[in-house]
Amino acid sequence: MDNKIRCRTCKSENVVKRGTSPTKLRGVQQRYLCKDCHKTFIPDLGFWKMKNHENKVTKAIDVYFSNLSSRKVRDFFYRHEETKVSHVSVLDWCRKYVLKVQKYIDTLKPQLLGRVYADETEIDREKNHNDIFWCSVDWDTRYINATLYSPHSQNMEDATEFMHRIKQKGVPKYIQTDGLPFYPSAFSKVFGQGKRKYDLRTEHRVNNVSKTKKHNVRIETVFSKIKDRVYDFRGLKALWSAPILLAGIVLQHNFIQKHTTTKAFPCELAGLQLETGVNRWLGIIRLSAEV
Ligand SMILES: [Zn+2]
Repeated sequence: MDNKIRCRTCKSENVVKRGTSPTKLRGVQQRYLCKDCHKTFIPDLGFWKMKNHENKVTKAIDVYFSNLSSRKVRDFFYRHEETKVSHVSVLDWCRKYVLKVQKYIDTLKPQLLGRVYADETEIDREKNHNDIFWCSVDWDTRYINATLYSPHSQNMEDATEFMHRIKQKGVPKYIQTDGLPFYPSAFSKVFGQGKRKYDLRTEHRVNNVSKTKKHNVRIETVFSKIKDRVYDFRGLKALWSAPILLAGIVLQHNFIQKHTTTKAFPCELAGLQLETGVNRWLGIIRLSAEV
């Protein structure tokens, strides 16, 4: 990991090693001296002032976003670890680190191949009301390149914002959607502004299921994985929390787990070689610590 060590007080990189200090939970830590403001400090590698060991925290985050509910993570720790963890802590850790890591991820520039499949799915967050999760995947890399979490049913504004988010990560060769009536206008608003013909670089492919009898299978495989995971969202997750947890599921997909078909991490197929080490959540939190 080649994180630059910066002074905790003045952010200077003009620092030198100056002895070690014992810490209660993280063992002996390297101490540094800042040659500009002359203060000594232990760098924040993402777990500053956490009451729990970083391995425990990242293990909980990893199993939560892999496939376990927060209560199942609690039970898992009860069976396999000496220390207990409450399901509330599990959710707190997940949200805290997803927000940190997301900030860092947003600075990265994935190299996508541009065959994009986009769709929306309902998220069963509370009784008698569904949120909509808009999501698109760059097929060749399996990198999820755009998402939008909305408490509203499908509408023009959200469809347009979703198209903007796809464009932010690069102009695709084509975007395939289903026959939802909002897509054509949203698409041409975002991708079709050019007056000259060659400005229209992206093609909009509509898969009308009732005509082709074929589902948008490519995006559906991604969605079924996500839907599996949000099965227990109802009731437990408030509106402010649900989008963060979904962002965590997307992070898990893009950065933490190898895709079963490509046998590679989507981020690496998209040219993002991150020095995370084997514990990928720990590594990516470290990389995010200085952002
Ligand atoms: Zn300093």
